[in-house]
Amino acid sequence: MITPGRQVTEEACQDCLVGSGNERLRQDFPALRQKVHGKPLVYLDNAATSQKPQVVIDTIARYYLSENSNVHRGVHFLSDLATQAYEGARIRVRQFLNATHDREIIFTRGTTDSINLVAHSFGRSRLRAGDEILISAMEHHSNIVPWQMVCEEKGARLRVIPINDAGELILEEYERLLSDRTKLVSVVYVSNALGTINPVRQIIALAHRRGIPVLLDGAQAAPHLRVDVQELDCDFYAFSGHKLFGPTGTGILYGRADLLETMPPYQGGGDMISAVTFEKTIYNSLPYKFEAGTPHIAGAIGLGAAIDYVQRIGLDRIAAYEHDLLAYGTGLLSAIPGLRIIGTAREKAGVLSFVLEGIHAHDVGTILDHEGVAIRAGHHCAMPVMKRFGVPATARASLAFYNTREDLEALAKGLHKVNEVFA
Ligand code: PLP
Repeated sequence: MITPGRQVTEEACQDCLVGSGNERLRQDFPALRQKVHGKPLVYLDNAATSQKPQVVIDTIARYYLSENSNVHRGVHFLSDLATQAYEGARIRVRQFLNATHDREIIFTRGTTDSINLVAHSFGRSRLRAGDEILISAMEHHSNIVPWQMVCEEKGARLRVIPINDAGELILEEYERLLSDRTKLVSVVYVSNALGTINPVRQIIALAHRRGIPVLLDGAQAAPHLRVDVQELDCDFYAFSGHKLFGPTGTGILYGRADLLETMPPYQGGGDMISAVTFEKTIYNSLPYKFEAGTPHIAGAIGLGAAIDYVQRIGLDRIAAYEHDLLAYGTGLLSAIPGLRIIGTAREKAGVLSFVLEGIHAHDVGTILDHEGVAIRAGHHCAMPVMKRFGVPATARASLAFYNTREDLEALAKGLHKVNEVFA
């Protein structure tokens, strides 16, 4: 019998991330307790994936230990249990996003899968030659390539909203690019490569004025900012479970019910049908129409536990804490000789992307690793943005609420060491 991991309660969290700091929260994350290369782990690669609290690990273990069964199909006790837990997770996601209906929440494998679903279903069924899809210059490859694929097939065109030297969208250019040919605007809420928080309300309002739907890539927003899809008024919202302290291989596509109703299924198979003959298949209702095959049941339930965990802390509290941490880290890094921060938008989430003069980002990452500091080095699946800033790669430290000022001091100390090695 697995006992549920200790978890922070709403009451116990009254002073989390203020006053007592985050020491109590850190204890919920077993992976943070380890040493690497003999040094305490300083985990600053949260934009790639976040660590998991004990309660998420326990929820997944409990599912496999005592609830494991397939969903929606069985008449037996365990299947009912698994179905309830899986559908319960959907309700948690709906509440997390403040969506109107459970049927607007589709379980996917991640943000990439969610965007592909929209590209292949909405895109393929609606795009005609000469139509346009509008994205931005700071997109992750997963919000570029699916659109390129569908545009190529349909003879449509991908248009790109440019960004300024700080890494902010140029809104006048955006307005200029919107036209009767635009069939969808698909933009990132928070850039993984620059940390920019885009003015999505304005972006959505401008598109809606012309009746154009908007997809938000919320992969980097979900762990850091409170999201209300009704208030944002977005038409689609995609995010990944693993960046939100949940399991890998899980994700969500939120879609407005009236839009999803008109879209054809993206994949065929079990569960997405209500009747099949060799002549004709009648598709299932939402959201099952888009969930072909056995889903990642344990993953969805684990994601539900992650959402509960994050909500107990509160995203407003998380955002405020990380905002301070980002300012502190920006100050520390700015004092390092030869360091240039890439991405200096006025509105930023916890990403510190930078280059060190004359030193390749991979060397920076490797030396820091030996100091126990885990960051990312490379193009961050955003090659066009690297090109825009004239760099092949950056080193990137990315924050979560369990990071501390000491973590950032360890990063700065490591960077001084990198400079010494290459002096
Ligand atoms: N969009 C953004 C902004 C991201 O940062 C990422 C992952 O880093 C993705 C999309 C793709 O997410 P996933 O690999 O979980 O599908």
